Amino acid sequence: MKPPAAEKPKLVKTAELPLPKPVRPGSIPQLLRGMKDILPVDAFYWKNVREKFEELAEFFGYMPIETPIMEPRDLFVRGVGKQTDIVEKEMYTFVDQGGESIALRPEMTASIARAYIGHGMVNMPQPLKFFYFGPAFRHDRPQAGRYRQFHQAGFEAVGDAHPIVDAELISMAWAFFKDLNLPVTIQLNSIGCTVCRGAYKSKLVDYYKTKKGALCAACRERLTRSPLRLLDCKEPGCEAIKEGAPQMFDHLDEACHNHFFKVVEYLDDLNLPYALNPHIVRGLDYYNRTVFEIWPEAAPSAVQQASAEGSAPVETEENKPSTPAQSSLGGGGRYDGLVEALGGRPTPAAGFAIGLERVILLLKAKNPAPADGKATQVFLAQLGEAARRKALVLLHALRSELKVASALYKDGLKPQLEIANRLGARYTVIIGQKEVLDDTAIVRDMEAGMQEVVPFGKVAVDLKRRFGIVETSPSPSVGGERKESDTT
Ligand code: AMP
Repeated sequence: MKPPAAEKPKLVKTAELPLPKPVRPGSIPQLLRGMKDILPVDAFYWKNVREKFEELAEFFGYMPIETPIMEPRDLFVRGVGKQTDIVEKEMYTFVDQGGESIALRPEMTASIARAYIGHGMVNMPQPLKFFYFGPAFRHDRPQAGRYRQFHQAGFEAVGDAHPIVDAELISMAWAFFKDLNLPVTIQLNSIGCTVCRGAYKSKLVDYYKTKKGALCAACRERLTRSPLRLLDCKEPGCEAIKEGAPQMFDHLDEACHNHFFKVVEYLDDLNLPYALNPHIVRGLDYYNRTVFEIWPEAAPSAVQQASAEGSAPVETEENKPSTPAQSSLGGGGRYDGLVEALGGRPTPAAGFAIGLERVILLLKAKNPAPADGKATQVFLAQLGEAARRKALVLLHALRSELKVASALYKDGLKPQLEIANRLGARYTVIIGQKEVLDDTAIVRDMEAGMQEVVPFGKVAVDLKRRFGIVETSPSPSVGGERKESDTT
């Protein structure tokens, strides 16, 4: 197939751009609408989710790939589809100083197909399995769980047409949520291939034409431009109409039918909780055959979502209650025509992406105060400049083996011990002026309230012994004396 001719970038004269909104002098710069800061308070959730995702990728043999945030606009026009909402309405685009038409990526699959072609990966043993984790951008109407910059984590298996690839991907999506203890359902459909889908689309249009008067304005437009999208309209009037619509399952050709039923068989073998859903069609043109979405078993209420987001639990336009379908946690499917549409050789492929903000909202609603990763094992407290310098050296000596915290910028012992308590440190090492003179340190057991004086040169090994990192030997306090807790 000859790739469609690249679109010429439209150069917009500065005079034609909308005027920027006036900024009040001295005002504090605000976040752009639909954008979000990820603050340290949420770091644990992000780390946990990423770790689970990477463990899964490693187990199933997926390799990391990172593609740029900016790509030629044409990549998504040809890959995702010129008439999709993403490309027509939601993509952030601009013409750069060199006159190139650029897009902030609205998703990553097209970029990975571009990289696969551009780096000649077709010549490597197939399939190639990739995973990624990063931000994507869509100028959508912001809502709870819907942002203009959001993060996706995804898997792509490029170069194999076997239905077991689809089933493996679906099982990985399911395993990801199982590992996070989030109950989900898999919504599964097949949208056939370009041949059988063509005949189905005409039947669908014939059906919808008889109901045209009752359709929402967007669906009346979809009728001519993208009839499959009629099936995922969430307007109440259109929801009722789609119940009577012809279903793709009944119009699959033999090859698509066999492929789909193989996928279903594999999922049955795994006992996965999938539901056949004829209304899953996905909003990107590159999909064919298997398509699926991951829905939360129950969508979080507006109030749960708002409080997980740290905003006031009041229902607003940006904080509307969502249905499981509207808060879809991820989606994917097969895209056998994408590599070819971008100018590569015909290459079957399949993949899926998970929306991480939505996963984290659910995790936060479920568990608002997670225990932070590894607890602090040792806190280093110091008094005076000479002690500070010794503590700095000790900090680096312990760093690779123990979780150590300090507040070397603090002067008084009291505030440092308060921090040690707050962090729940198991031991605190105290180096005061006397300890500097004696070349020792006090090692305080924070649970038992006991402390020992240890020669400074032996503190590191003493602590490692206490945590079982080096073998125990008689008295760790050579040259030191055992005391009751007396320092504060
Ligand atoms: P898609 O690329 O549209 O198939 O989206 C895959 C997943 O990304 C969805 O299921 C959502 O979880 C997430 N997602 C898509 N758009 C947004 C958005 N605007 N804000 C937050 N998450 C999104």
